[in-house]
Amino acid sequence: MHRLQRQSGGTDPSKEAVVTEHLGSCLCGTVRFKVEGAFESFYLCHCQHCKKDTGSAHAANLFSQSAKLTWQSGADAVTSFTLPGTRHSRSFCKFCGSALPNTQAAGVLTVPAGSLDTDVSILPTAHIFSSSKANWEEASEEVPTFDGLPD
Ligand SMILES: [Zn+2]
Ligand SMILES: [Zn+2]
Repeated sequence: MHRLQRQSGGTDPSKEAVVTEHLGSCLCGTVRFKVEGAFESFYLCHCQHCKKDTGSAHAANLFSQSAKLTWQSGADAVTSFTLPGTRHSRSFCKFCGSALPNTQAAGVLTVPAGSLDTDVSILPTAHIFSSSKANWEEASEEVPTFDGLPD
């Protein structure tokens, strides 16, 4: 797997500012969290498990071995599921079902990018398990785009 090539040096100031704090929450607002530290990778996973658990084309997860997760509210509402016989695990709000950060994998914090309310500090590293892409996904880049609902 390829890791994100970090650009060093450079004159672009935005590349030098490493964001070290991210805030996130679930859809119903019960759960709020803070992540302190940098993410090392950001994978868009198209595997069968991620398609099922997101109900969408792919998962978008940030990974860090050093960042610290703090539940700011609603820690009691966070529940987890690990698919038996696999390492596929997800955490979610028991009220609204929103994906939340997961610490089931030893030493690795997984944060669903869409759960964050602050901008993500890195760009996606790679698409993974692209061999499992949904058959409708390729077409999604060619269909019309609307800012909101279509007329
Ligand atoms: Zn919720
Ligand atoms: Zn996956």
